Amino acid sequence: MRLSEIYKNKEKPIFSFEVFPPKGDNLDKKIENLFSELNKLSKLKPALISVTYGAGGTNRDTSLEIVKELKTHLKQPVMPHFTCVCSSREYIKKYIEEIEELGILNILALRGDEPQDIDVCYRDFKSALELIEYLKNYSELEFAVAAYPEKHPRAITFDDDLNVLRKKQDLGAKVAYTQLFFKNDNYYKFHDECTKKGINIPIIPGILPVASFSQLDRIVELSGVQIDKKTYEYFEKYKDSKEDTIKAGIEIASCQCQKLLEFGARGVHFYTLNKALSSTEVIKNIT
Ligand code: FAD
Repeated sequence: MRLSEIYKNKEKPIFSFEVFPPKGDNLDKKIENLFSELNKLSKLKPALISVTYGAGGTNRDTSLEIVKELKTHLKQPVMPHFTCVCSSREYIKKYIEEIEELGILNILALRGDEPQDIDVCYRDFKSALELIEYLKNYSELEFAVAAYPEKHPRAITFDDDLNVLRKKQDLGAKVAYTQLFFKNDNYYKFHDECTKKGINIPIIPGILPVASFSQLDRIVELSGVQIDKKTYEYFEKYKDSKEDTIKAGIEIASCQCQKLLEFGARGVHFYTLNKALSSTEVIKNIT
């Protein structure tokens, strides 16, 4: 189904999952584990499973392998992410043709962050807007875009981000998925500001059920995502027990998702970190 059809359904919340291509040692084993988790996620009949894509095409082959597995074996609705930074026009056209041949209908169109370890970085595209304009010339794909309730870290003002999102909508974006956040109030405020700007595509909250305290610390440090003291300390209390941290993550994410759906969010996009358990439990708790 195309994005525009998926999000037309207003009767029940629309759930989607994000996974990423593993890397490093024992890649075959990691991919095998991921396929097993995808099998579990598939049983929840998600509206979409999205697969991240390294900026500059650094993990192109693994990303495509996962997309193919989801599409051809698991028969899942799959949405590849696609980043344009450092890629040439020809390279992008070829990749898009390849995924359209697989029967993919939707992509998440992104700029991406310039990788440090790349030999050649083409300067054909500077933003997701330029990628979208290019794709529209020859592709029938529908596209989703990224949104930032707590502002993109490099955007100068919050308003700049909103203007970019409005342009993405004007170019035909069907839905926006947000960067992960822990403070729902930031999403509510962002949503209201979007409405004032005339942005009326669904803005789907991106939610991470925390599964490890060190991972939470790393995410907060690297991305600057806001988290209130009480929630942080709640996780800290369980930091020595993996099992208790997972339980706490499910509890906090369930509460967060419940409130977001009550506010009117049309669905939730789960950052699964390649594990099915927490998102599965959250969905059970809120449906
Ligand atoms: P744009 O829409 O071009 O920019 C978004 C906003 O950030 C705009 O307001 C823009 O002005 C501002 N901005 C961006 N860069 C700068 C800059 N240098 N200076 C000033 N302002 C700037 N990354 C990956 O590599 N692979 C993925 O698969 C991936 N998936 C993602 C999925 C989601 C749901 C989200 C929210 C992000 C994802 N990202 C991914 C991260 C994303 O590529 C980065 O956040 C990137 O910096 C911006 O991409 P964009 O498409 O939002 O860019």
